[in-house]
Amino acid sequence: MKYDAYRIEILREQYEDSFKSAQEHRRAGRKKAAARAYADAAETLSKLDDATNEDRAHQVKRLERAADILRRGEDLEDHFKRNQEPEDDRGDGGGPPSVGGDSEDDEMRAQMESFIAETETTWADIGGLDDVQHDLKRAVALGSIANKPDAVSATERILLFGPPGTGKTLLASAVAGSLDANFFKVELGNLLSKWYGESSKQISALFETAAELSPSVVFLDEVDSLAQSRDGDMNETSRRVLDTLLAELDGVEKGSDDFVLTLAATNTPWILDSAIRSRFPKRIHVPLPNVDAATEIIRIHTVDGGVAFEGHPSAFVDDSKHARGVDSPERAIAQRCVEDGYTGRDMEALCSAAVNNMVTRHNPDLAHLVDESVKRLRSHTLNLGRIKPQDVTHAFATTSPSLPEEDVARFYDWDDEYGSRT
Ligand code: ADP
Repeated sequence: MKYDAYRIEILREQYEDSFKSAQEHRRAGRKKAAARAYADAAETLSKLDDATNEDRAHQVKRLERAADILRRGEDLEDHFKRNQEPEDDRGDGGGPPSVGGDSEDDEMRAQMESFIAETETTWADIGGLDDVQHDLKRAVALGSIANKPDAVSATERILLFGPPGTGKTLLASAVAGSLDANFFKVELGNLLSKWYGESSKQISALFETAAELSPSVVFLDEVDSLAQSRDGDMNETSRRVLDTLLAELDGVEKGSDDFVLTLAATNTPWILDSAIRSRFPKRIHVPLPNVDAATEIIRIHTVDGGVAFEGHPSAFVDDSKHARGVDSPERAIAQRCVEDGYTGRDMEALCSAAVNNMVTRHNPDLAHLVDESVKRLRSHTLNLGRIKPQDVTHAFATTSPSLPEEDVARFYDWDDEYGSRT
């Protein structure tokens, strides 16, 4: 479904309300009311997952389980003690223990370290975006040089904005991968809903841990989650998190020898809080790919992955104008993708569909193999060939661009007004 920041904000607030009232009822011993509120929280969270394409099924399950236990009239704490389940499994949304001593810091730190994502992404995995890559590489190089006067800022804060699926996360992963840095990947919307009431503590702990484990790259995805709602209001949690984040970002700039590069990303820069916007002096547009970039993206997701094309370029696209003067199938496909407004993610889906079509052509009996034992399946050799024109034509028929054309112009307008020029 279409990304709708307003709807997401409403769902988030509903989730926070249900979750908060579940905790209050539970603490006051009102089990039936707590069960209802946990069930509501679970239902809203799964709607939120649908709206944001996130996967918090595990957390939804935990909330549902908490509702069941309370509905049976049992006490959550007693239930888990009896069943010896881990403490954070008490159905309180995965938050830290409400009572706690020394273990609280350890838990917080463990939580922070869980934000560290594995990344083996390199610059070679990115098609196009040469200017953006150049800016990011420059920031990394500058930050990595230890010997420089104080006046030369070691840390840059960069905001990447652009349509969803254009490579913002990929770029952040490549920065971390190239630096061999710890990559803290935080979805702010997720953090806000998951850690109700604890989110601002989490933000402080995040930057503290990032500095301790320097060099680090902190990637704040969905930074627009901290936007004001339409009437200019902001709920209390978001306001507190915003204040903490601003303070931490200011702190990072003054930082000593620690190297923490903070990257933020948004698909809706126009709803960004102006205070956040001003903390990111470098704002880089990550646009839809042009033909050169699209050609590279298609190559990355086919030829570089071990599957080549076979056929004349013009045979891969319905309209011969896309193949005029081009020397490869990748370029002909790229021309059509650009004309249709495909994002990098849309092109990845197109390539994957084309490769699948080729695999199906060469292995018509694949589905029947499931009847064989897993051991035999494991050693089964897949028949592979090249991607032919019909595989691509069929892939075009089953995929489409994800972004309405009118939205694209909005990013250029915002770039004109607030974007950085290098
Ligand atoms: P964003 O963070 O902008 O929403 P992502 O970086 O998560 O988008 O991109 C989604 C996927 O689309 C990537 O994992 C990658 O497979 C593909 N993709 C997008 N842009 C590019 C690109 N420039 N080069 C190669 N692959 C890309």
